[in-house]
Amino acid sequence: MKWEENIRKVVPYVPGEQPQNKNIIKLNTNENPYPPAPGVEKAIKEMNPDALRLYPNAEVKPLVDALAEYYHLKPTQVFVGVGSDDVISMAFMTFFNGEKPILFPDITYSFYDVWAELYRIPYKTCALDENWQINPEDYKQPNGGIIFPNPNAPTGVLEPLEKVEEILKANPDVIVIVDEAYVDFGGVSALPLLEKYENLLVVQTFSKSRSMAGLRIGFCMGSEKLIGYLNDVKFSFNSYTMNLPSQAIGVEAVKDDAYFKDTTARIIRTRERVKKEMTKLGFTFPDSKANFIFASHKNVPAKDIFEALRNAGIYVRYWDKPRIHNSLRITIGTDEQMDTMLRFLQEYLADAQ
Ligand code: PMP
Repeated sequence: MKWEENIRKVVPYVPGEQPQNKNIIKLNTNENPYPPAPGVEKAIKEMNPDALRLYPNAEVKPLVDALAEYYHLKPTQVFVGVGSDDVISMAFMTFFNGEKPILFPDITYSFYDVWAELYRIPYKTCALDENWQINPEDYKQPNGGIIFPNPNAPTGVLEPLEKVEEILKANPDVIVIVDEAYVDFGGVSALPLLEKYENLLVVQTFSKSRSMAGLRIGFCMGSEKLIGYLNDVKFSFNSYTMNLPSQAIGVEAVKDDAYFKDTTARIIRTRERVKKEMTKLGFTFPDSKANFIFASHKNVPAKDIFEALRNAGIYVRYWDKPRIHNSLRITIGTDEQMDTMLRFLQEYLADAQ
């Protein structure tokens, strides 16, 4: 059809399944198995619907201020969006506006190439090595910007801060985005590098470590200059991205640091225990510092295990893609959920091998 010629055509990102059945064990989208901080429940109950008559604060000021205080930054160094997907998408639009290709790892968050295609940004992927690690030399070629998650997804591999800095040092002329969606599960944040590098943007989210994937809150931190440019684009796109309840509820989550530290520590403990158990079952995996494990079995193909788990009501994530088609990404749930999974795997693998 003629009218179809000028349409912006894209191949969309496919998010993990959100099944309606509440009885399944859901380990497929890296959600947190624990509820949000108690103050969040209180804020939801005390919310006055009359407040919804008005537009929310366009600058997301309550949440920006709370995050700035928590991370010891100026409010002008913090930007909040509707999940880190919104923040990263806005950052692609703002910062990756050159002719040279942007760079990111070949095995990484599969939304990056979708945004690049959407905004017509040229891009090039750099292969992770055989241990799923970044080779910093790859990021010393001419480029229009850089993005990588740390820890990486779906591998869980954490790159040391020295490597992040090596990449920053080699790239003073472009924006370098470090996507720290999973940093709170034992990672090391690049935040201290903000003082030295005006071109660094650090992105984080409330979806995983703060148990609020359903509320959609993401944020990024950078120099005042970067955040200023990001706000210019945001206010040219949609003034009121974040709704009023999310702004108020998000503040409560930031306030309760003890709860945040306790739940993330619990997930780390479970992860380390599950690593040991999975090794006994014949799985190998890179040493994850995230809330998931990226595992392959020595004898049984990942696809078969994925399907068997699914039939047993245990959902994990599987991609039939080059290099990763023999791996499963398994989110760390509660101890009880993980034990159910491990018991199933033990029986299943005994029959399947
Ligand atoms: N970055 C990475 C690496 C992720 O895995 C995810 C989760 N899908 C996101 C960003 C986006 O998360 P959210 O929009 O929920 O903050």
